[in-house]
Amino acid sequence: MENDSNWAFDTLAVRAGQVRTLEHEHAEPIFPTSSYVFDSAAQAAARFRGDEPGNIYSRFTNPTVRTFEQRLAALEGAERCVATSSGMAAILSTCMGLLQSGDHIVSSNAIFGSTVVLFNKYLSPFGIDVSYVPLADLDAWQRAIRPETRLLFLETPSNPLTEVADITALAELAHANDCLLVVDNCLCTPALQQPLKLGADIVIHSATKYLDGQGRCVGGAVVGNKELVGEGVFGFLRTAGPTMSPFNAWVFLKGLETLHLRMKAHSDNALQLARYLEAHAAVSRVYYPGLESHPQHELACRQQSGHSGVLSFDVKGGQAAAWKLIDSTRLVSITANLGDTKTTITHPATTTHGRLTEEERAEAGIGDGLVRIAVGLEDIEDIQADLDRGLG
Ligand SMILES: *Cc1c(COP(=O)(O)O)cnc(C)c1O
Repeated sequence: MENDSNWAFDTLAVRAGQVRTLEHEHAEPIFPTSSYVFDSAAQAAARFRGDEPGNIYSRFTNPTVRTFEQRLAALEGAERCVATSSGMAAILSTCMGLLQSGDHIVSSNAIFGSTVVLFNKYLSPFGIDVSYVPLADLDAWQRAIRPETRLLFLETPSNPLTEVADITALAELAHANDCLLVVDNCLCTPALQQPLKLGADIVIHSATKYLDGQGRCVGGAVVGNKELVGEGVFGFLRTAGPTMSPFNAWVFLKGLETLHLRMKAHSDNALQLARYLEAHAAVSRVYYPGLESHPQHELACRQQSGHSGVLSFDVKGGQAAAWKLIDSTRLVSITANLGDTKTTITHPATTTHGRLTEEERAEAGIGDGLVRIAVGLEDIEDIQADLDRGLG
């Protein structure tokens, strides 16, 4: 099926990338095959030389994985997408495919914990240096850029405090300094925010989160143009092998079909819960970009069409009150995952940010009373009632 370039987002989410086989199947098939058969020795030679397009081996290409890649690329408005075995593999493949020893990264300090470990423990011994800056401080980004800076890296909104970066301004800064802007679009997904259209060069996904949306598979993706992603990142991936399995690709590509509906429902539920918490006497502050009280509410409304399902709040009474709230729940799940139909609750100070020192936590704004909720798709009144018990 040819993609119609005029198709809207919701049509692309359901149709893009599908190629029917001779069986005329309606739904997309899974191709669990590690290699492919050639018609002749000459064809095999042509494929290996790169003179003839086509499948050779599933570390390089697989039809189910390709369908997922083409569909996600279409949703982000990109030329190319490369699927990876996890979100972390997407970040690793981007760095390995595009950077070399001596290069420098400027990164937001409010990024996923494993990304910090990847940068500091595993990339730095190979001569890649990383500086960290506050996400929303444009001057700090500018000051941190050096002649050897090659890449600016961020997540927006951040997790758990939902700070928002001005993607357009950072893309201008990056390009004025010959750098690439890489945005981890995990929280918003292309259904709510399309960073490439705002000037970013590469979008990273942990497909594990909202792209699946139902907590089943681990996977990731890198999205961008033919040169950076189709050659640079793909070149590393096909050689080193952190590829996505066809089964996982099938789960994710079916997830994309309902992505827009789910992200809208997550956003609606989260906004209602944020308003309820903001009005609650036991809560001192709520962090959610959809609230008028959020310091970057206007910016968030400009670059996002919704505010996703993740919110945080400070309960009065510190860790004891936060743990009491968490332990009083019967419906929501006590787990650090996010992007699931099932609502999850976590205490960042003693879990995701537990390895930081007290001073580092204070600097990051992770208080002892901070609770993070990734709001799912249950009825909002049931979620509220579940939290009300522990906040009472
Ligand atoms: C989970 C997550 C990752 C890592 O993804 P995995 O699929 O767990 O490897 C990267 N970035 C963000 C923002 C995440 O939430």
